[in-house]
Amino acid sequence: MKRSQPIIAIDGPVGVGKSAVAAQLARRLGFIYIDTGAMYRAIALKALRAGLSLDDADAIAALALETHLHFERKEGELRMICDGADVSDAIRLPEVSAATSPVADNPAVRERLVALQREMGRNGGVVMEGRDISTVVFPDAELKIYLDARPEIRARRRCDQLEAKGKSVTYEKTLEDLNERDRRDRMRPVGALKKAEDAVVVDTSDLTEEQVIEALRCLAVEKGGRGMMI
Ligand code: C5P
Repeated sequence: MKRSQPIIAIDGPVGVGKSAVAAQLARRLGFIYIDTGAMYRAIALKALRAGLSLDDADAIAALALETHLHFERKEGELRMICDGADVSDAIRLPEVSAATSPVADNPAVRERLVALQREMGRNGGVVMEGRDISTVVFPDAELKIYLDARPEIRARRRCDQLEAKGKSVTYEKTLEDLNERDRRDRMRPVGALKKAEDAVVVDTSDLTEEQVIEALRCLAVEKGGRGMMI
C-alpha cells in the first residue's frame, strides 16, 4: 500500500542524539515525532513501581499487555502518557534507564509495543526513532537512517546533558553505562540494534546537531539516497 506521506525511520545506539534530531526533523517537515524508547521506558517504570522482578518475564509480559500507552503534544513537547498519567519525566530517571534494557529484551513486550508503533505510524508523515524501526517495525519505511558516533563522543555529550540538568556524573561511569546498554541492545535475540542494509549511515561524531538535522531534512525531501555514507 502506498502511503500519502513517508515514514522516516531513525535507529542508532545510546546517546547518539536521535531524540533531539528526530524531534527537530519532524518539526521542520511538519511530521509527527514518535520516540519508541519512551514506550519501553514506560513499561520499565511501571514494572519497577509494581515491585516486579525484572527476571519475571511472564509478569512483565502480562503488565505490558494491560498497559495503555499514547503520546500527547503539550506546548510543542512530546509527552508519554501511561495509563492516563504523564510519565515523561519519571521515565528519564537513571534507575529506569537501567531497567529498560532487560524489559526490552522480553519478546512479548516487544511484540506488543511493535504493534502499537505500527498503528501509530501506519498513515506515514512520521519520524520514528529507536533501535529496530528500520529492521522490524517498518522495514518498508521510505527513508531509513542509522545515526552513529564514537562511544567517547556519545559519553561526553551525555555527561554534558546531565551536568546541564544539575546532575553530578563522571565521564568514566557514563561511558561504562553507555557501553553496557549498547552491548545489551546489540545482543538481544529479537529487535536488536543493527543497521538495515538499505539505511543511510550518518556519523555525527564531527557534526553539529544543526548539520545533522539539515542533512536528514535534505534526504527526507529527496526521499532517496539508499545505502550511502555522509
Ligand atoms: O532510546 P532510549 O535510550 O530512550 O531507549 C531506552 C531503551 O529502550 C534502549 O536502551 C533499548 O534497550 C530500548 N529500546 C528498544 N527498542 C526501541 C527503542 C528503545 O529496545 N525501538
